[in-house]
Amino acid sequence: MKKHVIGMLLGVATIMPYTSHAADKGLVAISMPTKSSSRWISDGNSMVKFLQDRGYKADLQYAEDDIPNQLAQIENMITKGPKVLVIAAIDGTTLSDALAKAASKGIKVIAYDRLIKGTKNVDYYATFDNFQVGVIQGGYIEKALHLKEGKGPFNIELFGGSPDDNNAFFFYNGAMSVLKPYIDKGKLVVRSKQMGMDKVSTLRWDGAVAQARMDNLLSANYTSARLDAVLSPYDGISIGILSSLKGVGYGTPKQPMPVVTGQDAELPSVKSILAKEQSSTVFKDTRVLAKVTVGMIDSMLSGKPVPVNDTKTYNNGVKVVPSYLLKPVSVDISNWKPVLVGSGYYTESQIQ
Ligand code: BGC
Repeated sequence: MKKHVIGMLLGVATIMPYTSHAADKGLVAISMPTKSSSRWISDGNSMVKFLQDRGYKADLQYAEDDIPNQLAQIENMITKGPKVLVIAAIDGTTLSDALAKAASKGIKVIAYDRLIKGTKNVDYYATFDNFQVGVIQGGYIEKALHLKEGKGPFNIELFGGSPDDNNAFFFYNGAMSVLKPYIDKGKLVVRSKQMGMDKVSTLRWDGAVAQARMDNLLSANYTSARLDAVLSPYDGISIGILSSLKGVGYGTPKQPMPVVTGQDAELPSVKSILAKEQSSTVFKDTRVLAKVTVGMIDSMLSGKPVPVNDTKTYNNGVKVVPSYLLKPVSVDISNWKPVLVGSGYYTESQIQ
């Protein structure tokens, strides 16, 4: 049996029962990339809750980072006749045929968090300001190393996200908009010379892939030099990088960890920040993203104007997709409590 067929049989397909509310406003199908990262679980749970609160049924499925599996799940969802498909794509370029089928049945499509590329059949995009995520990550390194005050030179290595995810390029470019001038001036030195998404990306955002690359970078370039900072785009990648660093002796009073960034405020990383290993993360409140998306769905289906705040940034190769961009927030040891606990995203006992 092919992997994706098995995936379909085993895949989590949850048609959440319609519970309390007055009108049955129809079915909304939600395709999420993976359960291996907790942010997508929070996204899925919030989507289902807010949809049910507004009288919709929800069909939520996770594709475990397998592209054919996600495609098969989406094709299967289309046969159930949802009013809207909400998709956080694994590979933003592989869905055109399925979305043409959806369009021919009048199904609306929202790209969730990640842009869907190469098709006109995507109606709206709900996400965070992805360039700003990178600016926050680069800015954290700039501040921690006092680069603005002229300190340096420092050694840095760069990691990018998955090259099939459009967001990865926005994060990298945002970070480099801050870091590149210091690299050009020699205040930041990339000893490996590995720069650019073609050299630093991490397929499927996989922490193990990042850990293996960090092992190689350390043994080839840092046996007699200190590494001062690592640009990491995502917490799962940061955790891999940190274990590699620990493996060669970083993380002691004599050899403190480099500055290591991250994204998503996942629990292992928040704990790592409290343990003074990971330096920072970027919090993106998935509850708010889900709320905005459900608001878009409700407006679309009731013929009201759909709330968007950006109509120029996200060109998917065929059209500019009208978008709603939310604000990402920098988190480190100084503000984790008000931001993550104060907002109710986590309880303090989950963290400490
Ligand atoms: C999301 C990030 C996430 C990454 C890995 C990106 O598309 O925007 O929040 O860290 O995927 O899951």
